[in-house]
Amino acid sequence: MAHLAISKIAELLQAQFSGACPEEIVSRLLLDSRQFSSVEGVLFFALRGKNHDGHEYIEDLVDKGVRYFVVEQMPEESLDANFVVVPDSLKALQDLAKCIREKSSAQVIAITGSNGKTVVKEWMGQILQKQFSTCRSPKSYNSQIGVPLSVWELNQKHEYAVFETGISESGEMENLEKILQPEIGIFINIGSAHDANFESRTQKIEEKLKLFIHTKQLVYEANGSDLAKQIESFATEHGVQLLSWAVDGGNADLQINVKIEKGHTELTGILNGKEHSVQIPFIDDASIENAIHCWRLGLELSLDENQMIKSFSKLNPVEMRLQMKAGSNGNLIIDDAYNADMESLRVALHYLQNQAGKRRKVLIISELQQSGLNSDALFVKMAEVINRFELDEIIAIGKKLKKAAFQLKANAIFYPSTDSFLKNIYSHSFKQSAILLKGARAFHFEEISHALEEKSHETVLNIYMNRMVYNLNYFRSKLNSDTLIMAMVKAFSYGSGTYQIANLLQFHKVDYLGVAYTDEGVALRKAGISLPILVLNAEPSSFHDLVEYNLEPEVFSFHQLEMLEPVLAEANLSEPFKVHLKVETGMHRLGFEEKQLGELAVKLKNHKSIRVTSVFSHLAASDEPEQRDFTLSQIENFERMTNKLEAELEYGFTRHIANSSAITQYPEAHFDMVRLGVGLYGIGSNEEDRNHLNVISEFKATVSQIKHLQPGDSVSYGRTFTTEKPKTIAVVSIGYADGFRRSLSNGVGEVVIRDKRYPVIGRVCMDMVMVDVTGSDVSEGDDVEIFGPNISVYELAKKMDTIPYEVLTGISTRVKRVYFME
Ligand SMILES: *Cc1c(COP(=O)(O)O)cnc(C)c1O
Repeated sequence: MAHLAISKIAELLQAQFSGACPEEIVSRLLLDSRQFSSVEGVLFFALRGKNHDGHEYIEDLVDKGVRYFVVEQMPEESLDANFVVVPDSLKALQDLAKCIREKSSAQVIAITGSNGKTVVKEWMGQILQKQFSTCRSPKSYNSQIGVPLSVWELNQKHEYAVFETGISESGEMENLEKILQPEIGIFINIGSAHDANFESRTQKIEEKLKLFIHTKQLVYEANGSDLAKQIESFATEHGVQLLSWAVDGGNADLQINVKIEKGHTELTGILNGKEHSVQIPFIDDASIENAIHCWRLGLELSLDENQMIKSFSKLNPVEMRLQMKAGSNGNLIIDDAYNADMESLRVALHYLQNQAGKRRKVLIISELQQSGLNSDALFVKMAEVINRFELDEIIAIGKKLKKAAFQLKANAIFYPSTDSFLKNIYSHSFKQSAILLKGARAFHFEEISHALEEKSHETVLNIYMNRMVYNLNYFRSKLNSDTLIMAMVKAFSYGSGTYQIANLLQFHKVDYLGVAYTDEGVALRKAGISLPILVLNAEPSSFHDLVEYNLEPEVFSFHQLEMLEPVLAEANLSEPFKVHLKVETGMHRLGFEEKQLGELAVKLKNHKSIRVTSVFSHLAASDEPEQRDFTLSQIENFERMTNKLEAELEYGFTRHIANSSAITQYPEAHFDMVRLGVGLYGIGSNEEDRNHLNVISEFKATVSQIKHLQPGDSVSYGRTFTTEKPKTIAVVSIGYADGFRRSLSNGVGEVVIRDKRYPVIGRVCMDMVMVDVTGSDVSEGDDVEIFGPNISVYELAKKMDTIPYEVLTGISTRVKRVYFME
């Protein structure tokens, strides 16, 4: 990690400095004010983004004790802090990284490509670290901001540095190249991510290759693909030496033979006439490819052969994400198996803090490992990091921890081993707690995770939270900056969970949440959500709860207004109660008709205890281009009706009519707020939206049993299928009670196992389904994709003769939801 005096930073940036303490040392960079944990040595970069402006948080941070800032504009008030003033904060961050890079004597290895960058970066780091002092990017820090932060980790002792890079549009790579100035490159592969932002695949590759313009050497797979050809001509043009490898011949310098055995893969290769071999503990194609990239470079760098053999045999799976899942007794388990260093501990504690809501915060931690520190110094540091957070309970596991100077502020209980804790786990009776598990591998924390998990069958809906943020930002990019967003989280957030989703949306500053029923709103309040919440269909019996939990109902009838009256009289609120009027423009569902508006306005004017905070309507067919005229007429009706109401009520209110597809299809329907539903979860109504959005969830089951059938054997209820030939079938742990409809029986539905499709055979049962896997290598315990990377929700919806909305909301609540964060 860099340590620089603030005046030195100003000097490096050739920027103006203003403040009383120019000589103080800065050691940590802060970009997101919400990630604030301690003040010591922190330098805050006030970045301006589409939806955030870091300058708005400066005062707040000064109040908390932060003293160093890089800003584009001095705050208006005079504050007790030090400022470096630059024209562009992001550029300053990048320039600073460039200076640090230039002062370092480490050999920089830069990785780009589509899938597997983080894995290759982690593995290359693990391998090099055995012989050299090595720096690597934290997590998947690979963006215009992530790369500078990674470079900040460099120090004078590092001999190698491994950084990953990612770009989403043209022009970005040149920037990253200037910062990193890599000597060695690895181009892993190319996929379709972000394709829409480039003219063509060729252009995307061309952009990525700009990273290697000054490298001496570049590792790639010489498989004759378009990518390989493009790399080869690039290398010729720029005088880059290629380090090629190939599995099936060709003229690569490392010729590799891959032999998959039970649970591991043997790689043998010939380089310059000499034979080498390593074994890796993986058998899937992606891991094999990733490992070979590392191996090719390892051979080039002449790493110690025996050490390499050892390192490869011990490569760890790279768990890039924090996993969040429901535990028993209302617990939330945050499982961070990523790696056990100080930085990841800090990041994980932030997640705990952000996700816990009103739950108790529990940390279960083992002795961590970090090279370069003896255990006492390490434990002192661990305690420092932990003590910055308000925790309710800490369980510390490891013999050395108890003895060492591990001084914790919160209530801590020590156990010598994971086993001894597991034997006593019931004495802790965790309830309504958010539990962060952070353990070094040797401590096998997965056993704790397993013990705390809610027991359910192995059918899961994996939810990738970062995809939702990506989708949200896509819709934001379509709106004016002052248009508000209401995120619809009704129906269990379209099947993807309640609290976790709402919490992330709150974190990313949507303006409103929308739920269908009062109970859904109450549950969110109980979990600590503070955003305003609209309840679409509040029943009169729940009106008391509306008041008690500060929820705002949709009002669509005179009857509702009458029923609300006594409840409000009794509550005697100090401010008028907020309601949202629904008006009928053509959907013919709930809402006041145009001819009722006069009477409505009169009634409302007399109701001093009620305030109309918004008026809205709903489009019936914004996702159907052939209904364009009808949709436009709804928008027109809405405009007319709201104008009338405004004139008669004599005060203003927020207007909204657009759902997800109208956001992109009908800019004229945005008004003051939009109601974003299905799009947030990644479903688009048209080609373009589909290309940009990412479905946030993947639905998975497992193979419970493999069976061999003889001619004449029938499968499942009703014996609708009888085999004529010997067949192999897999029994899969999903049925119509999970949301895998019975109409998918007998070949209509398909699933994917080990990258191949298999049809349903016989009828779908309540909890299980059989698929025909004859002639395959499918085995018991394999993962089964119901929808995900290979089978889209759109395809599944079509096969079930319905729409994606129904597929998502039809996933039964008994299916465990597991949340992933990057
Ligand atoms: C569900 C719902 C939405 C969201 O619609 P999407 O098509 O999912 O974006 C908006 N408004 C109302 C009233 C709704 O019920």
